[in-house]
Amino acid sequence: MNMWHGIYGHERVVDYFRRSLASGRLGSSYLFLGPPGVGKFTFARKLAQALLCLNSAESPLEPCGQCDSCRLMDSSGHPDLNLIGLPEGKNRLPVELFVGDRDHRHQEGLCHDIALRPRLSRRRVAIIDDADHLNTESANSLLKTLEEPPRGAILILIGTSRSRQLPTILSRAQVVPFDPLPTDAIAALLQNLEIASDPSHASTMAARCAGSLSRAYELADPELCDLEQRLATQMLPAAFDSVRLAAELIAVVNQAGKDAYARRQRLRAVLQMASMLFRSILRGACGAAEEHADPECKAVKGWLELGPAVENCALAALDRCLEAEEQLDRNANQATLIECWLDDLAEVFSRVPAFDARATIR
Ligand SMILES: [Zn+2]
Repeated sequence: MNMWHGIYGHERVVDYFRRSLASGRLGSSYLFLGPPGVGKFTFARKLAQALLCLNSAESPLEPCGQCDSCRLMDSSGHPDLNLIGLPEGKNRLPVELFVGDRDHRHQEGLCHDIALRPRLSRRRVAIIDDADHLNTESANSLLKTLEEPPRGAILILIGTSRSRQLPTILSRAQVVPFDPLPTDAIAALLQNLEIASDPSHASTMAARCAGSLSRAYELADPELCDLEQRLATQMLPAAFDSVRLAAELIAVVNQAGKDAYARRQRLRAVLQMASMLFRSILRGACGAAEEHADPECKAVKGWLELGPAVENCALAALDRCLEAEEQLDRNANQATLIECWLDDLAEVFSRVPAFDARATIR
């Protein structure tokens, strides 16, 4: 299997950056988009290392791993690299990260730092993780930097889907899509990270990960694993009981206790599991099931048995799950969110071809 400096499965993106560098067409603002847990952040850091390396001639995109710049990269304290992401417990990227707090407006923050002369390398790089969580104020503070980036500077934003980005950001950054990881890459990672005990355990787990390493961590958590099984059995048009499932999921969120952050994370995990399920169904309906879907997943199997015409319904269900995740970020009441989300899914499921609505258990 091909690997670029410890990164599996994204050769297409490596090639893209190699060609951009070789032709002198490296852009200044990129938006990495792809499902959670496929290595976008790891890739961004490695790319930053390659672009900041003092020995690399740049065109081959090969960081030396030896120079002062590469060594600082490993200790995560490089003077020419800005890294920002969602602060713990927050669900928005605060504007202060970009332009400094009220007392130091435009005297600190990412937009200020990236305009400074590089201290060690020949350019500065900034990585903005969790770009799904940029609000209008934060995005606006970044627009000028995106439009007129300082010479040589490179900004990399990382998000999960186009629909979650503000149009002002989308129109100013080059989108670099990241695919789910191939199953053999996931299996190799599971072994390297010692999440799987042996090659056969690694491949069984990898088959259930839908191309996402973060899902492997979820599957390793018995509670989340059990929850996923329950979702998979119930997310079938013929077995769907939105009222019963809502009560179950509200209880699941309540088990996370009173802490708002923990509750939100629990519900986020549920919504992401559902999104992943509908993505797998969509891929299956397009004939790509073998690569990423769990072959044993009851919901995927059940949906695909209904024929290729389920595609539109699976897409509508996926859209509704992504919308629910946005509502969660906007601090919607969680019980209401769950009930409305499942009611809407019931409506979507009732449109599945060849599905007899009388069979619904309501
Ligand atoms: Zn180096």
